[in-house]
Amino acid sequence: MTINLELSEKIETLIAQAHAAAEHVLRPISRKYDSAEHTYPVELDTLAELVAQANVAGAGYDRREAKEPAAAERAADGNSNGRNLASLGGLIEMCWGDVGLMLTMPRQGLGQAAIRAVATPEQLERFGGKWAAMAITEPEAGSDSAAIRTTAVLDGDEYVLNGEKIFVTSGDRAELLVVWATLDRSAGRGAIKSFVVERDNPGLKLDRLEHKLGIRASDTANFVLDNCRVPKGNLLGSPEITTAREGFAGVMQTFDNTRPMVAGMAVGVARAALERTRELLTEAGVEISYDRPLAVQSSAVAEFIRLEADWEAGRLLAYKAAWMADNRIPNTVAASIAKAKAARVATDVTLRCVALCGAVGYGEDELLEKWARDAKILDIFEGTQQIQQLVIARQLLGKASSELR
Ligand SMILES: Cc1cc2nc3c(=O)[nH]c(=O)nc-3n(C[C@H](O)[C@H](O)[C@H](O)COP(=O)(O)OP(=O)(O)OC[C@H]3O[C@@H](n4cnc5c(N)ncnc54)[C@H](O)[C@@H]3O)c2cc1C
Repeated sequence: MTINLELSEKIETLIAQAHAAAEHVLRPISRKYDSAEHTYPVELDTLAELVAQANVAGAGYDRREAKEPAAAERAADGNSNGRNLASLGGLIEMCWGDVGLMLTMPRQGLGQAAIRAVATPEQLERFGGKWAAMAITEPEAGSDSAAIRTTAVLDGDEYVLNGEKIFVTSGDRAELLVVWATLDRSAGRGAIKSFVVERDNPGLKLDRLEHKLGIRASDTANFVLDNCRVPKGNLLGSPEITTAREGFAGVMQTFDNTRPMVAGMAVGVARAALERTRELLTEAGVEISYDRPLAVQSSAVAEFIRLEADWEAGRLLAYKAAWMADNRIPNTVAASIAKAKAARVATDVTLRCVALCGAVGYGEDELLEKWARDAKILDIFEGTQQIQQLVIARQLLGKASSELR
């Protein structure tokens, strides 16, 4: 199938609305909540309501949708562009506004992607649309998510969870946490399942909130699960312990949904930096021309155009991965390529934009220095740069994780 990125009028309108929200709501409070870390941005409540209605965010494959999109949704060339591309376009705009604020938008947590990836229709009914954070990382399990130690033991009609979860984005503010735990540590990856835990569950104890380099508007919480009891029906998907590949594939599908979105966040913040740098260079009398050879233009122009080209590559890869998800084409490799490239581009572009603008770029009167701080996390969470490269290599070489680590 040939890639066709044409979007429906409805999706274009949603993306335009996301841009307007980013410009008029997020940008004006961007610096305020960067400085006031751990203060909840109340301005987001109204905006979140509008976003939820418009369904701008919320990527992933929803099992309530038919396996094949309805014929009416398909374009004449067979393309079906929908939820994932809409989410990507919306996220790019919102993160052009502010990545940290976007990450703490009520009801838009990455946990919903995890729910959509493995939940049953009944679970989607119960948990869909709620603000859900994703809790995978533990003190001894970051990049190697299969090494998690949090346990889930069935006791009557409940699972009892014990362990520790760290760096949970929106962990304190979300309504639900999707917690990864193992049913049997000796059974390996196939025993790892995700469980929905209500934030007000007494067994879920907030340990502390992190102080961070960037995305300070977003809360990052550490928890202890202390005999945390959840109903049996809160195990997402099937409780069966299957073979390693099959069992873990369900939870890993979450990343196929979320990585293109993180790539989109990177594309958004990098575009913000490029646009502001262009304005500042122009104000300083530097003319950026695409017609004249780079050799006869200033080095600042050559650098700027190279950054733009790199950004465009990241943007197209993010769109490709989201398009594949919309069209039900397995996108594990494309999702990792998109995230690896776009996140690297974002850290590179935002830092170089600071450099291109000199003292102005480094000062707090501009958001450039903030964007450089905010961008860094996009190359860390949802799998670091190195882990994306590992995933790509394993897939291309047909190697299991035990063979290539
Ligand atoms: C602000 C913030 C928000 C976060 N939000 C969430 C969240 O919502 N939910 C959640 O579950 N987690 C979250 N995380 C955790 C994040 O996903 C992890 O930090 C990340 O996966 C890396 O794990 P680690 O920190 O344990 O680093 P490690 O795994 O210890 O890695 C350290 C370094 O070694 C490299 N490395 C590791 N293994 C390999 C290898 N095999 N080959 C080559 N290099 C390797 C890594 O790339 C990295 O550079 C968040 C983290 C932060 C900082």
